[in-house]
Amino acid sequence: MAVREVEDIFADILDRAKALDPDNVRRWFEKLDIAHLSGGSLEIGCPDEVTAQFLRDNCKNSFTRAAQQITGHLVTVDFNVVAREQAGRRSQRSMPTLKLHPDYTFDSFVVGPSNRLAHASCVAVSHSPGDTYNPLFLYGNVGLGKTHLLHAVCYEAGKKFDGEVVQFLSCEGFVNRFIRAIEQGNLAGFQSQFRTVDMLVIDDIQFLREHEHSQEEFFHTFNALYNSGKQIILSADSPPGKIPSLEERLISRFNWGLVARIDPPSYETRVAIVQKKAHLRGISISDDIAEYIARKVHANIRELEGALTTLYAVAMTTGEAISLELAQTALGGQISLAARHINITNIIDVVTRHFDVRLADLQSKRRSQSITMPRQICMYLASNLTKHSLEEIGGHLGGRDHTTVMHACSKIGQADRSDPEMHELLAELTKQITQVPKA
Ligand code: ADP
Ligand code: MG
Repeated sequence: MAVREVEDIFADILDRAKALDPDNVRRWFEKLDIAHLSGGSLEIGCPDEVTAQFLRDNCKNSFTRAAQQITGHLVTVDFNVVAREQAGRRSQRSMPTLKLHPDYTFDSFVVGPSNRLAHASCVAVSHSPGDTYNPLFLYGNVGLGKTHLLHAVCYEAGKKFDGEVVQFLSCEGFVNRFIRAIEQGNLAGFQSQFRTVDMLVIDDIQFLREHEHSQEEFFHTFNALYNSGKQIILSADSPPGKIPSLEERLISRFNWGLVARIDPPSYETRVAIVQKKAHLRGISISDDIAEYIARKVHANIRELEGALTTLYAVAMTTGEAISLELAQTALGGQISLAARHINITNIIDVVTRHFDVRLADLQSKRRSQSITMPRQICMYLASNLTKHSLEEIGGHLGGRDHTTVMHACSKIGQADRSDPEMHELLAELTKQITQVPKA
């Protein structure tokens, strides 16, 4: 195939993948290129390992479906770092097991009075780990950017320091690895793994309170790292002293360095965040829409994003341009209560009500048209409006496997494009799903 032809095919695949999975579309998709296409395999070149991993975890299904639809063949898709950037390759070595989210960088973090200290301390620590603020302890309510900042530090430090070992995990991850090490009689392996890193980052450390033995182990890990000048960064939902049943000696250590609080963002910061998030996803929204969303959602930034996702999904499904009116209709009843992510239960509720069938029917083995069609519509809507994988969607609908779900998505997707009645029906159902008030 000529180079031009291959590039055109890839552009089409990219467009199709975006349409199949609007939720995961990012501006940096433009940086992807085609590394290889032949013999039923498509390799997509990514700028760095973080984006490659993100795509493998979140976008493999949509890209595979897109490649199959565009080429008309069975195609397996893989994402890899193209070996052109030295820096990209270097950074992989220091974070082989880190699963970082490519959206969670310092660049995409909006700084305002509510998070200025937390942000500045994270930037400082990423420049000189171990000797500015150690430990660094971030706390604040859910959805205010703690995890985002931790990812950003790991990403920066990984890029900057060749060969540094950065270990980033949730508190649960730490506890689980500890328990597994004990079960396997390999405590020494666990200890040497955690006590020799250059930077240890643990998210949501408040969950340590539930595990007495893990607290003990963490205490020793902390001491070993601290004494050898290694950086420790922790996040929690409350300050050290307010975490119930946390041992006194841990509380005092967590207070040794800098404790930074993150508050809910002000209105101006919220507007800026909505704009930043829209930009990241390549959606253009006017100032009045950003302001409308920022006025409606106050406490939790995840909900701001949810509102944006809903708006985008509605615009995609109805084919309408994103306008203030559309935002008001799509979000009006919903986010005043609390913007929320759509889950598969909402979809099933709306679809079963519309077709007057029961969930048990959808989950059954019955294959009559009156059941198959609503079942396939559920699958299609769930794959477009939620973050569930095809496997999970199949699981909700009677333990069907992902190829069944894939088939349903392509069938209903086809009908959506070619049959105006189906198009209208899907738009109506989407509207109901995105407007169901929170229970
Ligand atoms: P937490 O860990 O505190 O519960 P997260 O870090 O998961 O919160 O943040 C929730 C969402 O809000 C993420 O998508 C994150 O990118 C976004 N977010 C939070 N604060 C900011 C900010 N200041 N600028 C941009 N996005 C933000
Ligand atoms: Mg978090």
